[in-house]
Amino acid sequence: MELHGKLAVVTGAGRGIGRAIAIELGRAGARVVVNYRSDAAAAAATVAEIGNAIAVQGDVSTLAGVEAVMAAAEAAGGADLLVNNAGITRDGLLLRMSDEDWDDVLATNLSSTFRMCRAAAIGMMSRRAGAIVNLTSVSAIMGNAGQANYAAAKAGVIAMTRSLAREVGRRNIRVNAVAPGFIDTEMTRRLPTELIEGVTKMTALRRLGRPDEVAPLVRFLLGSGASYITGQTFIVDGGLA
Ligand code: NAP
Repeated sequence: MELHGKLAVVTGAGRGIGRAIAIELGRAGARVVVNYRSDAAAAAATVAEIGNAIAVQGDVSTLAGVEAVMAAAEAAGGADLLVNNAGITRDGLLLRMSDEDWDDVLATNLSSTFRMCRAAAIGMMSRRAGAIVNLTSVSAIMGNAGQANYAAAKAGVIAMTRSLAREVGRRNIRVNAVAPGFIDTEMTRRLPTELIEGVTKMTALRRLGRPDEVAPLVRFLLGSGASYITGQTFIVDGGLA
């Protein structure tokens, strides 16, 4: 129960990795704000599983959505912990990529993380405590054909994590990133079977990961065991990168 008494905000927590993280934080004793964009039933199921949690609708790719989530967190006592997990892919070769697919991916993966960090850091600064984990991807580190938009957004998340860590460290706020490899969620279930087979062969553990294999690292980074760790990116990819 090392996160007892803490309020954690997890974006995109209705399903997939965000859901597993929200449940893991709840098990560690945190109260959890479960953010979702469109699937209210999935968010309600995550809340029911945790118990001490609330679902908050908000599209974090927009400023209004970020403000709605952070207002709910403020009303619940203020975010001690933040996990920027909401993300989308719009894969396609760069030569044929539309402006919309570029903009949507940057807005959802990178701008949302910037605005959520900016909003959450205000309260953390005044309390002189806080921890943030941003979800990035091995695509940002390895590059991935068909994911120029996503890899660029996630590389931006890594660089922003390092920079913010340097800005807020003196106020006892830590900021780290977690870079999963291929995890079995709706995001990867959309990919062609041949691609998944190829990735599996390149992965030392010869399988995709599960959301509950990412969540414990996020919990660790938010807890006291990671009290001297900030500005870092940790890969959880079964030995792919
Ligand atoms: P997922 O199964 O597609 O789930 C994404 C979640 O994010 C959904 O609950 C969705 O909510 C929410 N979401 C999307 N856009 C949102 C927005 N604008 N505002 C609020 N919520 C939003 O994805 P996942 O695989 O769990 O991925 C979670 C994170 O890990 C993402 O940042 C992703 O880039 C990263 N990641 C995943 C993998 C992988 O292999 N799966 C690998 C590396 C990194 P609604 O359903 O309510 O719209």
